[in-house]
Amino acid sequence: MGLISLLLDVLFPPKCVFCGEILPRKEGRICEKCKSELPYTGSHPSQKGDFFSVCVAPLYYEDEVRESLIRYKFGGAPGYGAVYGALLAECISGELEGRWDILTWVPLSAKRYKERGYDQAKLLTDAVGAKLGVKPISTLRKVKHIPKQATMGSPEKRRANISGAYIVSNREAVEGKRILLIDDIITSGSTLGECARMLRQSGAAEVVCAAVARSRD
Ligand SMILES: [Zn+2]
Repeated sequence: MGLISLLLDVLFPPKCVFCGEILPRKEGRICEKCKSELPYTGSHPSQKGDFFSVCVAPLYYEDEVRESLIRYKFGGAPGYGAVYGALLAECISGELEGRWDILTWVPLSAKRYKERGYDQAKLLTDAVGAKLGVKPISTLRKVKHIPKQATMGSPEKRRANISGAYIVSNREAVEGKRILLIDDIITSGSTLGECARMLRQSGAAEVVCAAVARSRD
């Protein structure tokens, strides 16, 4: 190990992405306790939605998983993407084998991207792609910024608010294909549903989805 990486480890010791515990070197980024106690979805990884056949997720969106994903999304922690990506790739291999042709993601708006400096779903998808040996393809663009409060409320209200927020930017890549669409979290499914609707409208044969975490039924 070089001096610089040794110094970096002293100054910024690797921490568990879920509970924040400082880890011995080379242990990956999940501590033993989280590895065994995280709220895994286990035998219930999937849910259905509008315009997509299925969405799979390895974890439930609660406790440390929820806090970790919030840090990832808002706290400028892009390095988490690789850790989530490995968990997600494993779930995809197990649950969606042979069910998709191209890998894509739910993009951020240009405004959010500017504020945050990274697109969390894109980073995640890059990590999944690296694990599965597939290059992700950009297919969607977010054209309408949705205020946070507009993403809450009844399912009908959420759907109405998000309608028209995304356009398909790469029709050729989508036509006749079975799409695997990635986002970090699925709660109501309205965002993934809207993206899937646009992809289907542009000729996608089918859309299946995957997220790091989902709400409990
Ligand atoms: Zn931990």
